[in-house]
Amino acid sequence: MTTYRTSTPLRRTLLHAIASAALGSVISLTVAQTALAAPADSWTRPIKTWSHYRVSSPYGVRGTWQAGHHTGIDLAVRNGTRVRSVGSGTVVLAKRSGAYGNAVTIRMKDGRYTLFGHLSRITVRPGQKVGARTRLGYTGTTGRATGPHLHFEVRTSRRYGSDINPLTYLARHGVHLPFLLH
Ligand SMILES: [Zn+2]
Repeated sequence: MTTYRTSTPLRRTLLHAIASAALGSVISLTVAQTALAAPADSWTRPIKTWSHYRVSSPYGVRGTWQAGHHTGIDLAVRNGTRVRSVGSGTVVLAKRSGAYGNAVTIRMKDGRYTLFGHLSRITVRPGQKVGARTRLGYTGTTGRATGPHLHFEVRTSRRYGSDINPLTYLARHGVHLPFLLH
């Protein structure tokens, strides 16, 4: 009887620990589901439907650009196609910018910069917070462009020439575009 009495608080402690562990796993599951559902953490393409468009100039090809290579990817699209942010960030530039024409630059939450060039119209302003799918403007032919297309570029800093492969960047965030690769 003595043994039974002393083991009772121990059993209670064990049961409590098991219950806490079970509750803990329920809580972490709920947190994981919330994170998946949160639009702020989602990523998307700069244009809603890729399949109707073609890559008119891939990333990195050598040419007469100031950097010596093409610093982004060109997507030939119909004039006035809606352009969207690929993820969460803050607008740091939204104005006419030389060869880029009407351009929008976003500082992404991961510290990278995404740039959208040759827009016919800009619909965001500097300092504005954006999420994946937020409309930035519409495609056009402003700046150095021979036809309507979106120039989509990703940089490690605001400096011209700090570009990285935009398709690799999107792929790292779960946006895969295999049919765009040449
Ligand atoms: Zn381009």
